[in-house]
Amino acid sequence: MFEPPRCPYKDCRQHKRPEPGFAWKMGSYKPKCRAHPVPRFECQSCLRTFSRQTFRADYRDHKPHLNPQLFQLLASGVGLRQSARNLGLSLRCTEVKFRKIAAHLRDLSLNLRGPLEGIATMQFDEFESYEGCRNTRPVTIPMLIETSTRFIIWSECAPIRPRGKMTPKRIARIEAQEAIYGERKDESRRAIRRTLQAGAALVKGCDEVVFCTDEKKVYPSLAKAAFCGVELRHHTTNSKLARGTWNPLFPINHSEAMVRDLTGRVRRDSWLTSKEGWCLDLGLQLYMAYRNYVRRRFNRDKGSPAVMLGFVERRMHAAECLSWRQDWGPSSPHPLGDGGRLVSERVLEAAA
Ligand SMILES: [Zn+2]
Repeated sequence: MFEPPRCPYKDCRQHKRPEPGFAWKMGSYKPKCRAHPVPRFECQSCLRTFSRQTFRADYRDHKPHLNPQLFQLLASGVGLRQSARNLGLSLRCTEVKFRKIAAHLRDLSLNLRGPLEGIATMQFDEFESYEGCRNTRPVTIPMLIETSTRFIIWSECAPIRPRGKMTPKRIARIEAQEAIYGERKDESRRAIRRTLQAGAALVKGCDEVVFCTDEKKVYPSLAKAAFCGVELRHHTTNSKLARGTWNPLFPINHSEAMVRDLTGRVRRDSWLTSKEGWCLDLGLQLYMAYRNYVRRRFNRDKGSPAVMLGFVERRMHAAECLSWRQDWGPSSPHPLGDGGRLVSERVLEAAA
């Protein structure tokens, strides 16, 4: 039986510090998209009503039963249009669902991760893609992973200046694009800094961080700044070394190859381009949640990367990732609970 963990309205005092019995039952309603009635409640502080559905990630969605399928299609390299065709949705509806699901999964990823312990091993690299047009609006995508579990700690895109062979036609196109979007600045350092900071947030209690990258000159200083206060060992590998399994950077190279394959919008020579960088970021967030919580680390493994790091007790289904709302930070309901357990209670005693 569902008990509301808090008043869902942020300005109500039962939102931050809910008292037992703050909500009274107020019957139920029968939504068109569900077989069972949804219980309603009234908050005794603010006298506003809400339902179990107010706490769900698919709150106010049309055809909510298609959300997990859409999540899986988009994390399998299928584009928005083809997903819309497969699911019988309109393109607009699919776009709206994609944005809502990806933003929810970003919150979920941030809520469920916990501190790393002992010696943390991380690998970092950047790969390139583009927004809108490859010749005029390239982006760099830094990616940081935990090496042994392949948990993707963070990834986001940032604009970089077009480079390579400049023909008069290409220069004219770049100028035309700059007339629309303004001068294209190189913001790769900002994205690298943010990505490394996401890693630094996890290693505060670690004895040592082993950090592996290629030999790009900006990495040592940015790593030192991000991981200040922790013992940092930075190993570099020449990027000309053949990219086989024996390459020390194989884990990050392999993770990048996977994201290129399973996120259509960063594939090379693909039709599935993001028109704007922020849509690309949403695509990356969706993939990260799939990689870290739904997919096994390797096919022979039982657990996902997040299970191996002790962030959750078992691998999650797509539907579980999209269960409870995650926009209340640490006091959001845990995706593997019945609504009463909070994400701050990360791993249950029994499972630990
Ligand atoms: Zn209230």
